[in-house]
Amino acid sequence: MRIPLSNVNLSELEEYYVLDAVRTGWISGTGNYVTKFEDALAEKVDRRYAIAVSNGTVALELALLALGIGPGDEVICPALTFAAPVAMVKKIGAKPVLVDIDPISWTLDIDEVQAALSRRTQAIIAVDLLGHPANYWALEHAAPGIPIIEDAAQAHGAIYNSKPVGSLGHISTFSFMANKPVTCGEGGAVLTDDYDLAQRLRLIANHGMTSVKPYWHEVVGSNYRMTNLQAAIGLGQVQRWDELVKARKIVAEEYNRLLQVRLFDINFRPVEDYAYESTWLYVLRHSERERIINHLRSTGIDARPIWTAIPDNPAYQSSLPFPVARRIANEAFWLPTWAGMPEGAIKEVADAVLEVIAETVTA
Ligand SMILES: *Cc1c(COP(=O)(O)O)cnc(C)c1O
Repeated sequence: MRIPLSNVNLSELEEYYVLDAVRTGWISGTGNYVTKFEDALAEKVDRRYAIAVSNGTVALELALLALGIGPGDEVICPALTFAAPVAMVKKIGAKPVLVDIDPISWTLDIDEVQAALSRRTQAIIAVDLLGHPANYWALEHAAPGIPIIEDAAQAHGAIYNSKPVGSLGHISTFSFMANKPVTCGEGGAVLTDDYDLAQRLRLIANHGMTSVKPYWHEVVGSNYRMTNLQAAIGLGQVQRWDELVKARKIVAEEYNRLLQVRLFDINFRPVEDYAYESTWLYVLRHSERERIINHLRSTGIDARPIWTAIPDNPAYQSSLPFPVARRIANEAFWLPTWAGMPEGAIKEVADAVLEVIAETVTA
C-alpha cells in the first residue's frame, strides 16, 4: 500500500539505547534496561509497580493468573475489542461473559455489566477502546469488590477524570506492539499499586522462582519476560511518550478538520465528558463503509474495517443480541494514522473519503 495503515516513529534515542544494550552483551530479560523501562513507565502513568512482559496478550494472562482466576470463574469482557482479553480468559480455563458496549464511549455498558454479574464473577476486563477510557468510577460502583483489569493497550496518553490511563483498576496492562502509540516492536507491561499483587506478578512471570535460593519454585510459573533489547527501545519510547501521543493527536485533529463536513453525515467517534481521548488509529463510522474502504484501497490507501464483534467470531460465538457492538463493528473503519504522518498524506486520505461520500449522497 502506498499509504500504510500505520508506521513506527523511532528516533536516535531508541537507536542509542538498543546499541548500548547490544554492546554491553546484556540482551536477555535480566538487563538493566528492563528495570529502567519499568521505572520510567510506572512514573509516566502514575503507578507504583510495573512489570515488563513479552507482549500485551500475555500481560492479560499474567494479570488473570495473579488474581487467582481459573476454571469455574467468570470474567466480564466487552463484546467489541481486539480479541486478546477474551482469548486469555478462555486460555486460563475461565469463562468470558460478553457484555455490550455503551453507544458513546464504546466501552463496557455499565447497566449491562450489572446485569451480567453472578456469584462466579471474579474480574472485569475493561478495554480503553481506541484511546477512550472506560468509566472506572461507574464500574467500581456497579460491581463493588470485583477486581478490574484495565486493558490500556490502545490508549497510551488518554486521561480519565485527571488520572492517566494505565493507572486505573486494580491491575492495568499495556501492549507495546509496533502499531501501538508507544512501542518496542513486541512488548507489554502489567502495572499495579498493590505490593503483594506486584510480587505475585513477578513470581509467575519468572518461572515461579523466588530469590530464597537458586532454582526454587514457589508456585507454577512461566517465562513472560521482556528482553533487554525490547526494553532499550521501550525506554526511549517512554521518554518520548508525550511527543508521540501529541503527534498522533495532531493527525486526528487534522482529519477532524478536513472531514468536518457534517452535510455528508459522517459519524465521528463520540467522547464522554469524563474522558480525554488519545489517538491510536483514527476511526470513522459510515453506513457505506465497504464502498469507502474499497475506493481507498484501490488507490493505495490502507483503510480497514475495525474488528468483527467478538460474538460473531467462530471461536467466541454467541446468539445473544449485543446490538451496539454489532452495529459499530459493521460500520466503523480506520484511516491510516501514525506519529509524524505527513500533512499531504492526511489530506489525500481525507479527500478520498469525501469523494465516495459525495457520490453516495448525489447517487
Ligand atoms: C493490541 C492489543 C492487545 C494485545 O497486545 P499484543 O502486544 O499484540 O499481544 C490486547 N488488548 C488490546 C485491546 C489490544 O489492542
